[in-house]
Amino acid sequence: MKITGVETIVLRREVKNPVSDSLHTYDAGCTLVTRIFTDEGITGYATTNFGRVKSGPDTVKIIIDREMTPLITGEDPFFARRIRDKLWVGSEYFGTVGVANFAIAAIDIAIWDIVGKALGQPVCKILGGCRDRIPAYAMVGWYYKNGESEYVKHCTDAVEEGFRAVKLKVGRDSLEDDIRRIKAIRNTLGEGFRIMVDANCAFDETEAMRRGRVYEQLGVYWFEEPMQPYMRDSHVRLAAALDIPIAIGENYYTRHQFYDVIKMGAVDIIQPDNRRAGGVTEWMDIGAVSEAAGLKLASHGGGPANVNILCAIPNAIYLESGSLKNENQMLVTQLSMKDGEILLPDAPGMGTEVREDFIKAHRVS
Ligand SMILES: [Mg+2]
Repeated sequence: MKITGVETIVLRREVKNPVSDSLHTYDAGCTLVTRIFTDEGITGYATTNFGRVKSGPDTVKIIIDREMTPLITGEDPFFARRIRDKLWVGSEYFGTVGVANFAIAAIDIAIWDIVGKALGQPVCKILGGCRDRIPAYAMVGWYYKNGESEYVKHCTDAVEEGFRAVKLKVGRDSLEDDIRRIKAIRNTLGEGFRIMVDANCAFDETEAMRRGRVYEQLGVYWFEEPMQPYMRDSHVRLAAALDIPIAIGENYYTRHQFYDVIKMGAVDIIQPDNRRAGGVTEWMDIGAVSEAAGLKLASHGGGPANVNILCAIPNAIYLESGSLKNENQMLVTQLSMKDGEILLPDAPGMGTEVREDFIKAHRVS
């Protein structure tokens, strides 16, 4: 089989009720769809979402169209590692970390989608599956425009939908506000539900230590992104000082950066992001490194691509997800949940094929 061409499509949706974390507001609603065509009529898909950075899809599109498409045209999609190496070399002048990895990841995911479709199996099974479902938590505890009532409602809606764990944003305001937010959800949901908190890099080391101790006392399951990702020594000291697991990874790129922070002892639960980490091929390597180090792994982000990957990684514990009503809008493959776990879709490939009516409704270029 040979790759014959690539098409990249920018989609934009209006975001009517933007949500915020400690430092950012998510008002972009942009997606890049990458389609890779083959001489056997099989088409692979990947989606690259941007909740912020409105020019994000256009930037990745240019990198794929002008720099990477010529490198992969004529390649056999079954040689994913060879293609990854080629793209790495081809982009190292401007890449190695950063937005080039979004492009490499999109191509890698679309290539694995082709492989799965060619073999008639979900990619998880081709990677060597270890489970057919993965526990999911709902990332719904944002800072909302309408404050407390909307915040609590999104969390109770998630539990009604079947989630047994929710993640809350913290760190925008005082520690007292964080405590109020955590207790509001704990008191509403009762025991038996897990609560994680995510500071989105808002703190310095002293403040992360001070707040982390309180989250620990409140029984929070993990403390995510306490500080900026480049503060690696601070993460090492924090992880050593606190019992609450420190979860980081969504802002790290490639197996090399993950290897570094794992080796340093900066993290308890690693959280690769499908776009930044570099796609399926890179994820499998990150999974192996983290398992050998005795760490747990959770995804940053949801959808069928992440489910396929997590179901093939032995030390994976959680899929991050929004409400499935939203997650299922764009793709042909629909995710479903049972007992707090998302089931591996039956669809051959990555489950990343985008609905044609969705493309038509939101296409801008
Ligand atoms: Mg996060």
